[in-house]
Amino acid sequence: MSNLYIDIGGTYLRSELDGKLKRVLTKDHNLVEYIEKLLLKYDIKDISISFAGQVDDGVIISSPNIRVSKKEIKKYFEKKYGICLYIDNDLNCALLAESKVSSSNNIALLYVGTGLGSSVLDNGRIIRGKGNITCEIGHVPFKKAPFLCGCGKDNCLELFASGSGLEKWLHFKGFKTMSLTEIKAKKEFNEIYENFCEALLRAAATITTLFDPKELILGGGIIESNTFLVDLVKDNIDKYVLKSSLKGLIIKKSEIKDASLKGARELRIKN
Ligand SMILES: [Zn+2]
Repeated sequence: MSNLYIDIGGTYLRSELDGKLKRVLTKDHNLVEYIEKLLLKYDIKDISISFAGQVDDGVIISSPNIRVSKKEIKKYFEKKYGICLYIDNDLNCALLAESKVSSSNNIALLYVGTGLGSSVLDNGRIIRGKGNITCEIGHVPFKKAPFLCGCGKDNCLELFASGSGLEKWLHFKGFKTMSLTEIKAKKEFNEIYENFCEALLRAAATITTLFDPKELILGGGIIESNTFLVDLVKDNIDKYVLKSSLKGLIIKKSEIKDASLKGARELRIKN
């Protein structure tokens, strides 16, 4: 009997079964059908999912970039197949993986990837709120954009400091998708780049001011391929943050590869 681990983000669906890793494009799959195909082929005992969207108590609340045909995903698989299914938000999963290797009980995780997300460990406990949708830093208002965010608003930080936000700005201005490095190098995209940095600093400073973490860990695809952003935050956060929360604060890059997928393992152990 095997355990299936899945990390599904806005761009990739990664799965691990019997130590073998597989990566496919999220847009090509419906999560429920993807799992059902694996269940037909393999003898799976339980499933742990790190999910890039809002999820509470085994129920998908919102997933703008992921197709899931059964919202009550935990109930559906457990009833139909008699297996256990654990699922949590991907940032919470990544935080579980970070907390395993950190000596601190107060950690704020800020991810810049397809979206802009955060998760906070406060005295050893993940802050969850009443519906497991806390720390949605990407949807804090910043400034008005000429298009909408996945949440329906037009002024979210995520519209400026995320992969999907950058893509929307480029398409709006009539350009094809390009990386942050390419955007940074071109003078004509100066405003997009400046807004990106400003929104990133505001996000980092807001979670630090609100939650007073010992460690602020930066991760996600855009941070991974632009590690200078960690120094940008270190060097400039003082202009945005409540000064006293800087005392003893360590700002660093995540050193864990596939943290969300590793965190999915922890869901099984914790439950
Ligand atoms: Zn939003």
